[in-house]
Amino acid sequence: MEKIQMKTPLVEMDGDEMTRILWKMIKEELLLPYIDLKTEYYDLGLEYRNETEDKVTLDSALAAKKYGVAVKCATITPNAARVEEYHLKEMWKSPNGTIRAALDGTVFRTPIVVKGIEPCVRNWEKPITLARHAYGDVYKNTEIKVGGPGKAELVFTAEDGTEIRELIHNFAGPGILQGIHNTEQSISSFARSCFNYALDTRQDLWFATKDTISKKYDHTFKDIFQEIFDEEYKEAFEKSGITYFYTLIDDAVARVMKAKGGFIWACKNYDGDVMSDMVSSAFGSLAMMTSVLVSPDGVYEYEAAHGTVQRHYYKHLAGEETSTNSVATIFAWTGALKKRGELDEIPALSAFAEKLEQATIQTIESGKMTKDLALITSLKDVTVLSSEAFIKEIRKTLEEICH
Ligand code: NAP
Ligand code: MG
Repeated sequence: MEKIQMKTPLVEMDGDEMTRILWKMIKEELLLPYIDLKTEYYDLGLEYRNETEDKVTLDSALAAKKYGVAVKCATITPNAARVEEYHLKEMWKSPNGTIRAALDGTVFRTPIVVKGIEPCVRNWEKPITLARHAYGDVYKNTEIKVGGPGKAELVFTAEDGTEIRELIHNFAGPGILQGIHNTEQSISSFARSCFNYALDTRQDLWFATKDTISKKYDHTFKDIFQEIFDEEYKEAFEKSGITYFYTLIDDAVARVMKAKGGFIWACKNYDGDVMSDMVSSAFGSLAMMTSVLVSPDGVYEYEAAHGTVQRHYYKHLAGEETSTNSVATIFAWTGALKKRGELDEIPALSAFAEKLEQATIQTIESGKMTKDLALITSLKDVTVLSSEAFIKEIRKTLEEICH
């Protein structure tokens, strides 16, 4: 079979630990035999980030901006222990944070649904995609622990010196205080990313806040979404046969539990943090969750939602066999290849990515899977495979599909 040719390179962001091992296996077994793979390679492994004083991370983000599609392996976000382990010059920032800041994007997370791994919520038939705003609110807060009686005020000083002053509370005794913010620019980007992604994936978009209580803060989110929708997206949504739907966050939660799935749920930063963990664990496994960062100007960066699976990596280093699930990392590649195929008009590339996804799902549904899935599956007579054997088994299924 002739290898599929590509036009524009994918931006390839390599990573750390067990996922770095899987990354290499996936390329060698599942991609290189079929595609004349064109990538611009950036090594975001912690050693090279340290060597380049993290310049490589920013370079990779700029390359993503230039080419439009990137695929990323999980990476270590350094903490004190990692600074020691890797002899780091500095506690480098989270690569995902750096890339997100450069692309000003929104993160969309979608579970990969297979027969035999049933969601806890019985009526969920299709995946629910969580869109989380990734700027501001409680993640950029300022806090005070109040020691005793006193007056707390909210003060805004404009550039011309004029002040707006609002009483927060007259404290009679000790208490706590918190200041949070967001910007119209960031909320608008969030809204556009959500509307674009809904059109892209032809799914309804839900958005929810607590605007009945937070009459200025949350209400501004609601208003910005509605304005942008009415002015820029309404027609395209109608043409596509999808809808935009706003409701209160508590109403949204109740509806989500009763829904069939197959839509995008946009959440403010904190709601998105909490709800994405709830939705992903209710669907089965963190190892089956994909993640894509979409910028408002249409740059896509695909990755797995899980981390570098450190515990398995140490076993691997000790020469023990691992059974690490590569599905979300495979889907990061297929997501990126499909998008590249679509943008460059290479139907064979998109079709191959579809087949690889199908082969992955079929392999699991035939009872061959890694340990994490074997522990939760409802299938009988399951074969638990090692990291490598699982990928080789997908290759076999893929060969059957392709021939
Ligand atoms: P993790 O890598 O997501 O793993 C946590 C645990 O979840 C694992 O020990 C494993 O459980 C299970 N697990 C996750 N992915 C799995 C897979 N593919 N197959 C099988 N089991 C899987 O989180 P972590 O251990 O807290 O973090 C490790 C490193 O990843 C950290 O340095 C963190 O900074 C980084 N991280 C990176 C990203 C990213 O780049 N997007 C995201 C999160 C964390 P068992 O051990 O019970 O088998
Ligand atoms: Mg969280």
